[in-house]
Parts: sequence; structure tokens; C-alpha cells
Amino acid sequence: MSEQTPSSQHASSQQTAKPKWIWINILFFGLSFLAAIVLVPWYGFEHGYHVSSWAWGIGLWLFSSTSISMGYHRLWSHRAYEANPVLRAILAFGGCLALQNSALHWSSDHRIHHKHVDHDTKDPYSASRGFWHSHIGWLLKREGEAVRYDEQYDRCPDLKRDPIVMFQHKYYWLLSVSANILVPLVLGLMTGLVWEMMIIAGVLRLVWSHHLTFFINSLAHMWGTRPYTEENSARDNLVLAVLTGGEGYHNYHHKFQYDYRNGIRWWHFDPSKWWIKALSWVGVTRNLKAVSNEKIEKAKAETLLLKAQQKTAHLPNAEEIMQKLHEEYEQFIAKLTDAYAARKQWLEAKKNDMVENMVESYEHSKLMENYKQLKHSFEQQKINWLILAKQYA
Ligand SMILES: [Zn+2]
Ligand SMILES: [Zn+2]
Repeated sequence: MSEQTPSSQHASSQQTAKPKWIWINILFFGLSFLAAIVLVPWYGFEHGYHVSSWAWGIGLWLFSSTSISMGYHRLWSHRAYEANPVLRAILAFGGCLALQNSALHWSSDHRIHHKHVDHDTKDPYSASRGFWHSHIGWLLKREGEAVRYDEQYDRCPDLKRDPIVMFQHKYYWLLSVSANILVPLVLGLMTGLVWEMMIIAGVLRLVWSHHLTFFINSLAHMWGTRPYTEENSARDNLVLAVLTGGEGYHNYHHKFQYDYRNGIRWWHFDPSKWWIKALSWVGVTRNLKAVSNEKIEKAKAETLLLKAQQKTAHLPNAEEIMQKLHEEYEQFIAKLTDAYAARKQWLEAKKNDMVENMVESYEHSKLMENYKQLKHSFEQQKINWLILAKQYA
């Protein structure tokens, strides 16, 4: 995920060949981090905290991080679904509270991250340059030729057509600085806990949510598994998924970036996906894009085959192993394709029956029977394939 601070747009719009420190970001991140690790415990020891301060802090963190995940990331960067104006306005406000620059700015960086993932210079927060750079270093120092953000925004015409995105972009700093001061202040005045709210729901919440977002650029490209593709460094990681509202299934996301889900099973911890789906039932979100299971299965099988190939390449009987693996893999793909084709035919027949208001037709039940058989055969083959491939991968 992408993150920018107040000065990055101005700092980066000037062409420079030399590394350039971005002092306002250094001061902002440095001082806010210092406040979080010194001021928060000091105030706690001296005065203690009320439960309501923690509750509001957690609530604002969840709201702002969900706005980044559901809004900046899945809605605006990837257009994985559509949302009505009310939801878009709420997500844009949550993005102001998260203080990660405007949706236009964030998304334009993020699209480049996907396009040039792991490239040392083209990926704005490339993990190939190490933890520090991808986590926060890229926000503190600009190197080489600076990005021209006006041109980068022009490459996002779809976002420029969204009046909510453009309004937020135009007034971003006014809105976000006000929101980050006024929201905790108003909560403090309402509860009579002004200092606590400013410290917990203001500073600590902001530092905490910043660094969790940064982990998606750093740790989620270093720590975890790669079941869907090994073509880039992105990883699936349950710990990060829990901490970031579902963004930790980053390997899947880099393989299928237009899917509104990051955790594909309904029970995978991905609150953004649950929100998007639930809101589609009441018409607030629509046109949810989801990759077919067939494609997902194929991507996983292909990745497993490549892993097994790499791990067995040095063995004396590598050729023999590869031949066995290829045979099982090809059978798996063939049976998978057949089962999904039969499923499609069956579903179409079912739809026709419904359109013609008929009870289940003969053709329909025959197709269903055929699909069940092919599905069974595919599932058997999947077991054979996994037993063999996992011995070597
Ligand atoms: Zn990434
Ligand atoms: Zn993405």
C-alpha cells in the first residue's frame, strides 16, 4: 500500500538528481513516533487512561484503516467494485483521518507499485531495496529523478472524473489536519477527557495506523507464503491480515489485483471484503469483481509445479521426478478445466429453466449429474496432485 505525507507532492515535483531529504516528513514521523513511545506511557503512569479513550482510539483506527483498505486501495486504486456517493464520501473522510495523502495521490502511486513491483527505481516503495526503504525510507528521502505527480495524476483519468476524489484532493491538507485535530478534540470535550483523547485517539492511533499500513509495503513483501505466484516478492501473512483489516493476503492480491477480496474464502480474515459484500446486499456497493476459482486453482497449481521444479533441479533423478510431476499436473489441469466447463453448462441450463419458468428440465438434471461426476474426478486428481507435488515443493 502507498503512503504519502504533507510535503511529498511538493518535494517530489521538483526535478533533482541528488538524494534529497524531506525534512517535514522526517520531523513529522520522528516527532509523532517519539510522542507515541514517550508521551503515551508517561501520561499513563502519571494520570492513567479511561476505557473510553482506548475505545475511541481503537474505533478511529478501525474506521480510518478500513477507509484506506476499502476506499483508497480496493475502490479507487483497483476499481474492484463500485460504491454509491455516500459511501465514497465516508471513505474519503476516513482517508483524511488516516493522513496518508489524498486518494488520487495514494492510488496513483499504488498503481505504479503494482505495475513495477520490486523494481529498484520504478516501484515507489520497492521491497527489493530492503525493509527500511519500503517501510518508511522512501518517504524520508527522494533519490534520482523526482516523480512529476501532475503527470502521474493524468494517468488516472477515471479518478479525476470522480468529484468526491477531486474535492478531497483539492482540500486534502485542510480537511485532514482539521479532522486529526478536531475529531479527538471534540471527543475530548464531550467526555471531559481532552488530553487523553488527543494522546490516544489522536497521536497514538495515527502512529499505530501509519506503521501498520507501512507493514504492507515492507513486511508483506518479505514475511509469509507465496501460494499464487513467485514472480514478485508479495506474501500472504495471517498476522498482517489481522492487523490491517485483511490486507495481509498480499501474494493473492498481487496476482489478482482487481479482486475485491484479498482473503478469498469467506472465513479468511478480511473485514474489508465482508463490508463490501454486505453493503452490496443493500445496494450501496455493486459490480464486485471476483476471480473465478478455476483461475485461482490454476495459479496455485502452476506455482506449486514451479516450486517443485526449482527444489528438485539438483537431484540426480530430477528428470524422472519432473516427468511424474508434469503428468499429474497436466491431468489436474485437464480435469479442472472439464469440471468447470461442465459447471458452466449446468448453471446455464439452470438459468434457462428459471427464465422459462419450468421445473427442472431433463437436460438440466443430466448436466448436473455430469458436473458432479467430473467434479468428483477433479477432486480425486487434486489429492493425487497435491500429495505428489508437496513431497518436492
Ligand atoms: Zn505490494
Ligand atoms: Zn493493490
